[in-house]
Amino acid sequence: MRYFRHCIDGQSRDPASGRWLDVYDPANAQAYAKVAAGDAADVEAAIAAAGQAFPAWAGLPHSERARWLEKLADALEARLDAFAQAESEDAGKPIRLAREVEIPRAVANLRFFAHAATQFASESHHGQAGLNYTLRSPLGVVATISPWNLPLYLFTWKIAPALAAGNAVVAKPSEVTPATATMLGELAIEIGFPAGVLNIVHGLGPQVGEPLVNHDAVRAVSFTGSTGVGQRIAALAAPRLKKVSLELGGKNPTLVFADSDWRAQLDTLARSAFQNSGQICLCGSRLLVERSIYAEVREAMVERAQALHAGAPADEATTLGPLVSQAHYDKVLLALARAREEGGQVLCGGHALERAGWYVAPTVIEGLGPDSVSNREEIFGPVVTLQPFDDDSHALALANAGDYGLSASIWTRDLNRAHRLAAQLRVGMVWINTWLQRDLRTPFGGVGASGLGREGGAEAMRFFTDAKNVGLHLG
Ligand code: NAD
Repeated sequence: MRYFRHCIDGQSRDPASGRWLDVYDPANAQAYAKVAAGDAADVEAAIAAAGQAFPAWAGLPHSERARWLEKLADALEARLDAFAQAESEDAGKPIRLAREVEIPRAVANLRFFAHAATQFASESHHGQAGLNYTLRSPLGVVATISPWNLPLYLFTWKIAPALAAGNAVVAKPSEVTPATATMLGELAIEIGFPAGVLNIVHGLGPQVGEPLVNHDAVRAVSFTGSTGVGQRIAALAAPRLKKVSLELGGKNPTLVFADSDWRAQLDTLARSAFQNSGQICLCGSRLLVERSIYAEVREAMVERAQALHAGAPADEATTLGPLVSQAHYDKVLLALARAREEGGQVLCGGHALERAGWYVAPTVIEGLGPDSVSNREEIFGPVVTLQPFDDDSHALALANAGDYGLSASIWTRDLNRAHRLAAQLRVGMVWINTWLQRDLRTPFGGVGASGLGREGGAEAMRFFTDAKNVGLHLG
């Protein structure tokens, strides 16, 4: 049995309580490891270590902080295969997705923000009010709380800018997928990363996440996860006037127009619905199709869904892995039952797969309108709904129906239409004729129930720093 321990003050540590939680392999629903069941005592120790480490870390030249992040990136890259295997086993992720996309992206996150440490600059304003310049200082101790769907990718997306900006971090990975964050902590210890600068505390949300959010010494909380937990964190942080960044759920529309090259783009369209078994906040879970091509697109999507290869995550040929946990599997199956109750016609899938582990068949559903629960609530599984539209304004109305506003993709050769719609969509990110093509410098985040604040590039560096204006009279 493997044990995933905390990383506190440059050491691997057992939980203060002596309690552990089971960690499951989603491909066979068996416990394969234990993770520390942290509590307020572990949080307190991690915050104390971070508080101690902060002044020296913040005082390092930017280039030195960059060097440490690069060193961590190098060490991770050298172990890419081991990390990919661990991620695949822990999250039930197809090994190729872990090895070719997610772990390389974690390396890229560390490198990108290593560069940001040396490139980040602040503004100055020269004019009638004299010379004003802005100082940007690290906040101190900050907390990051991340989910299970892209475990190391999102963990590093948060810790890297926090560290680059000069903060000391207490990071809480998801208790569902603690493997790769633990391994990264061990790697940090191995390369001699300054003790206390990066602390990792495992455990459940209420036992570890809440004490972190509530702690007076924690100056900011960067959270990615469900909308419900995001609201809870916002409510806890508000009376403490704490900075929060919230990256929450999505119910993203994919708008396919008759003039698009949709046949040539089917691979990407199908990926946008089913990658990582639909467990990506940016997945296009509502496929809106112009009526004249609706029947053809429907047939093609069903064909693509049925062609996905469900298999062991470790198998190179697998393109559809299991869902991450029993709780999530139950939730997705309930959502499928509800879709049927609401009158949805299930064109393929709609059921669990008959194999060990939490597998759900790729599912395409039609016949549900924009007000159905199935088209308004996030399902976060390999499930896509289809709705036909008649013209641009109908497409826009369907796309903007609902509380979420994370991302959208538009598929058309008419770029005037694409830009017009991009401006009118109520979301934080739009892709035109592509999906999930990321430039790490761009603002990342959503509106409405999808969150508050932006990550990425300078946005993240600004979040993790305080601005101070200094004004000077020019005589
Ligand atoms: P979750 O909200 O259940 O958990 C996320 C993290 O919050 C975990 O580490 C969890 O332990 C912690 N947590 C739970 N309760 C807490 C509490 N009361 N206080 C503090 N922390 C608490 O989300 P999940 O199920 O792990 O992830 C899936 C969700 O994340 C989906 O809704 C998905 O859309 C969203 N997501 C959003 C983005 C984005 O960038 N917008 C990216 C990935 C995932």
